[in-house]
Amino acid sequence: MEQKIQRNEKLATIGKIAAGIAHEIRNPLTSIKGFLQIMNDDMQKSGLSKYQSYTGVMLTEIERINGLVSELLLLSKPKNVKFQPIDIIEVILELKPIIQSEAHLYNIKLDFRLLSVPNVFAGTEMLKQVFLNLMKNAIEAMPNGGTLTVETCFDVAEQLVRIDFRDTGVGIPHYMIDRIFDAFFTTKEMGTGLGLSLCQKIVNDLGGSIRVGNKGFGTTFSVILPIEKPANEE
Ligand code: ADP
Ligand code: MG
Repeated sequence: MEQKIQRNEKLATIGKIAAGIAHEIRNPLTSIKGFLQIMNDDMQKSGLSKYQSYTGVMLTEIERINGLVSELLLLSKPKNVKFQPIDIIEVILELKPIIQSEAHLYNIKLDFRLLSVPNVFAGTEMLKQVFLNLMKNAIEAMPNGGTLTVETCFDVAEQLVRIDFRDTGVGIPHYMIDRIFDAFFTTKEMGTGLGLSLCQKIVNDLGGSIRVGNKGFGTTFSVILPIEKPANEE
């Protein structure tokens, strides 16, 4: 519990700092990127392939900073999102093409078991962020292929919707489980360590929770959300 409070405070602080500096970083970055793109194109035309490989790396690295800034901005976004009843399955199916192309690259099979479930009350973009981050992590955990299973179910007794993201990847060692939701914790060379922090923050804001299981092999992340309550029960 104490750990959770500390984590939320840390996230709030990061959010505040981020909101202050993210724009200041993004604007100059956009002009650097623009000019670099021009240089990159010119070098391609004039056959300066050695330098083009440098500008290529620079553009990739700029994208990395851009990604980090975007994630920081998401963490700092105020919660003035309009909530509405949402069909989880529709959201997942909208993300499928994005995930499919990435999965294909790494020889990963997608197994979507989408049973219809009651609506949840949330913002579409928030849910997309959560699901995308979990599916990306799953794919990144299977560099040599595997299966990503996405399954929806409804717990009638608890009136909760559960979405499982199960991979057959590298798994998470026990000693690491407590740290994976910490902001900036990453084991990846190109990671930001913000994905799971963001997921947890969003799911908490929705009154739900995230569970992680690493029994057997691979990893399962479960997102648990309360269903939309009829107005007369509010
Ligand atoms: P990032 O993906 O940028 O590293 P995240 O917050 O999304 O940051 O994840 C934090 C860490 O949790 C990852 O670096 C990885 O070590 C671990 N992790 C997350 N999801 C999985 C997964 N499906 N399988 C194995 N490890 C995972
Ligand atoms: Mg991630």
